[in-house]
Amino acid sequence: MIPFVDLKAQYMGIKDEVNSAIQNVLETCQFTLGSEVAAFEEEFASYCQSQFGIGVNTGTSALHLALLAAGIGPKDEVITVPFTFVATVAAIYYTGAKPVFVDIDPRTFTIDVKAIEAAITEKTKAIIPVHLYGQSADMDPILEIAKRRGLVVIEDAAQAHGGEYKGRRVGSLGDMGCFSFYPGKNLGAYGEGGMVVTNNAEYTRTIRMLRDWGAEQKYQHVLKGYNYRLEGIQGAILRVKLRHLEVWTEARRTAAAHYNELLSGSGVSTPEAMAYARHVYHIYAIRTRQRSEWQQALQAKGIQTGIHYPIPVHLLPAYADLGYKRGDFPHSEKAADEVLSLPMFAELTLDQCKEVSEAVAMLANKSAVDYA
Ligand SMILES: *Cc1c(COP(=O)(O)O)cnc(C)c1O
Repeated sequence: MIPFVDLKAQYMGIKDEVNSAIQNVLETCQFTLGSEVAAFEEEFASYCQSQFGIGVNTGTSALHLALLAAGIGPKDEVITVPFTFVATVAAIYYTGAKPVFVDIDPRTFTIDVKAIEAAITEKTKAIIPVHLYGQSADMDPILEIAKRRGLVVIEDAAQAHGGEYKGRRVGSLGDMGCFSFYPGKNLGAYGEGGMVVTNNAEYTRTIRMLRDWGAEQKYQHVLKGYNYRLEGIQGAILRVKLRHLEVWTEARRTAAAHYNELLSGSGVSTPEAMAYARHVYHIYAIRTRQRSEWQQALQAKGIQTGIHYPIPVHLLPAYADLGYKRGDFPHSEKAADEVLSLPMFAELTLDQCKEVSEAVAMLANKSAVDYA
């Protein structure tokens, strides 16, 4: 049995450190925000090569508050991709702004920078590039367009902790970067968590207020805020885990290199890592036109896979009101039909990579014969 992710294996490697960090919070009773959260904010911002970090309760809240801090609201438009987790788009909706989609580059699964200009109108206020699967979007052209057209850039880095673009950490490239610490992410809490990182002191001040009922000081509510606070226990756990993140990231990159090598020559379409990126492989997605057969056959051999994501957001019933239809974003639609995520986590062994790759290569071989 090879699971898709193995959170238990990771916990077993850091059990004592985590248990004592939790114990410490229980004894100090700083259950929400507090000193562990403050220390984690500093440490994670520094890890991202950013000046400020504001911890919040989820990655979705990070995106929501980043948009609000940038002054985005009803009548505004925000450009993003339809091939993402639904949260990117939901956060735009929370502000009252309208999401406007741009298709992906099929090689990288990130925003097609050549298609951005055509989507900009006089209402456009921001672009949210998504560093999908752990690989940075092509940021230089995005930042150039944003500068020329006066747009804010908010990176959705929920899948890309420690990812880099031309040697710089993601999250620090745009005006703000948003991270999720959902348990299955590359840096995961034992519960929910998120953070905005930025070099902008004014955005930092606004987001700090908005996450805690818009209060400047206790009971001095200057903004209509939210209860989006990060919990003390999560902050303490995340501090422990951050100390291991580089080792885990390199282990993911090694596992991906094993897959690449073991699958080369098999005819399987493997992920392309761009020269500008340090890909952190939150997801290792191959492509196949026989996805459901492959997924079932792998499951029968005890190999768990995932699909990220089977329906692009413009075709989800919840967002039908945007008025998009099938055919509007062909690369996103094709990716949604073809991607299959192989097991990927830091503790994945070479033997496990071999077992998965052999099973996948056999399916590719069989498909090639069946469909010849
Ligand atoms: C996980 C994720 C989010 C949302 O994060 P939560 O912590 O689950 O709210 C946003 N965008 C992307 C691309 C994600 O993968």
